[in-house]
Amino acid sequence: MEQSSNFIRTIIKQDMDSKRHDHVITRFPPEPNGYLHIGHAKSIVINFGLADDFNGKTNLRFDDTNPLKEDQEYVDSIKEDVSWLGYEWDELRFASNYFDEMYKRAVLLIQKGLAYVDDLTADEIREYRGTLTEPGKESPHRSRTKEENLDLFDKMKNGEFEDGSKVLRAKIDMTSPNLNLRDPVLYRVSHTSHHNTGDAWCIYPMYDFAHPLEDAIEGVTHSLCTTEFEDHRPLYEWVVRECEMDNQPQQIEFGRLNITNTVMSKRKLKQLVDGEFVDGWDDPRLPTISGMRRRGFTAEAIREFVKETGVSKGSGTVDSAMLDHFVREDLKLKAPRTMGVLRPLKLVITNYPEGQVEWLDAEVNPENPEMGMRKIPFSREIYIEQEDFMEEPPKKYFRLFPGNEVRLKHAYFVKCENVIKDADGHVTEIHCTYDPETKSGSGFTGRKVKGTIHWVDASHALPAEFRLYEPLILDEEMAESEDKTFLDHVNANSLKMISGFIEPNLEHIEAQEKLQFFRHGYFNVDPKHSEPGKPVFNRIVSLKSSFKL
Ligand code: ATP
Ligand code: MG
Ligand code: MG
Repeated sequence: MEQSSNFIRTIIKQDMDSKRHDHVITRFPPEPNGYLHIGHAKSIVINFGLADDFNGKTNLRFDDTNPLKEDQEYVDSIKEDVSWLGYEWDELRFASNYFDEMYKRAVLLIQKGLAYVDDLTADEIREYRGTLTEPGKESPHRSRTKEENLDLFDKMKNGEFEDGSKVLRAKIDMTSPNLNLRDPVLYRVSHTSHHNTGDAWCIYPMYDFAHPLEDAIEGVTHSLCTTEFEDHRPLYEWVVRECEMDNQPQQIEFGRLNITNTVMSKRKLKQLVDGEFVDGWDDPRLPTISGMRRRGFTAEAIREFVKETGVSKGSGTVDSAMLDHFVREDLKLKAPRTMGVLRPLKLVITNYPEGQVEWLDAEVNPENPEMGMRKIPFSREIYIEQEDFMEEPPKKYFRLFPGNEVRLKHAYFVKCENVIKDADGHVTEIHCTYDPETKSGSGFTGRKVKGTIHWVDASHALPAEFRLYEPLILDEEMAESEDKTFLDHVNANSLKMISGFIEPNLEHIEAQEKLQFFRHGYFNVDPKHSEPGKPVFNRIVSLKSSFKL
């Protein structure tokens, strides 16, 4: 895969040129505590893409060192999402498979006088740590002997202590200007079953200890992570060095991807799912990979979008309109065009013979003639969009109104002659006449109309549900009241469900097929709620775009 150059590629190239490395191994290391989101896609594209550029390898490694939050469901979904995005990992690894090795390395640190068992509570440890302007205070247990520490750590492992009562800490420097080096916790007690190791362990390694060891064990050459770990790099290097690992991976940080009008952290996404604000992790409004897939975004569009956002140290916020741009670009030549009426209004063509049906020819995709033609029925009664008729139109309204003529896409000109209303004055039917001379494709040039509207034949149309989405979270409102949580800003209008009609040639449409409904935008057949004979279409994006690259 070609990616434009960036600072990480430059570093790797130098490492190869200088023979510091003769191969490249990267890894994508998700914690299986939720579903992947588009931010993870950035990490995936970078890790797999860079390794690929240097004929290297990329492992998918589950960073599963925190059993409280992890689950097999997440492991399965992450594998599915990485594959769907179009990447093949070289090896599938689990950090939990290294628990024995990590334990040994922790014992080594104790033997070297570089780790000790502490009895302080989590709160006390925080208090003792000090601040950026104040040095930390040493724990009274810091001077325990090696023998004492080895014995206590063994007892921790054997389940002799309660959760939270003891931790293993690195003995580095309580006055370091880098808070991460003030005797960070390496192991904690947690009597929790693990999705992979079951009840084999009741102590679990902390991220800052486990992650560098995982990388070193796998021979990772370049450990790419996001910039919030920049301050952890000295600790990363300390762990690799003091644990005497053969391989010395190099940590390099890049900026996180953020997108407007959404939330992008598994913790927040989980709150939305658990609070039933959304229809599961794959809700089409979520920025999860599975949600975006269900919405109808393509893997290609996601990859291209992520590449366009580039690789840099900074973590700017990207306009979600840019993502829309890439899916339109991808679907433009691939998605068949069709007509669907979302809010139907009946239109009767009074001079069209009763009982007659014409099968009109229409291009499947005028931008891609190779997609061929389709047949659309046309007869005396059709549905048009409610908003395509106004009894008293404003200026510059070129659609239907009494006395006005418009083109029916792929069919004829029709002229509005009469309006039928119910007892309450609501318009229930429009009566028109058509001009047989104006048939689409006939080369008619006698007169012009300004409006073209879409329609479906009333007696052949199939029912369908359309789901229109708006952002789940509105940034502008969030900014106004910082005292509220993001859950108070869930957009109540983020989903609209509408029952309408589609062309009959869509009878056998399948889940995940993508279409462009004329004037309405690109839609995807929802895999969860569609039923035979009653598809549900998720709008991916509308057609309009103000976004320019
Ligand atoms: P979250 O806060 O959403 O849980 P995380 O960083 O804790 O994110 P991990 O499962 O640890 O999630 O992430 C796996 C990899 O994906 C990490 O290397 C992480 O840096 C990267 N990653 C996560 N979010 C983003 C993002 N928004 N942009 C770029 N990379 C990201
Ligand atoms: Mg993480
Ligand atoms: Mg996280």
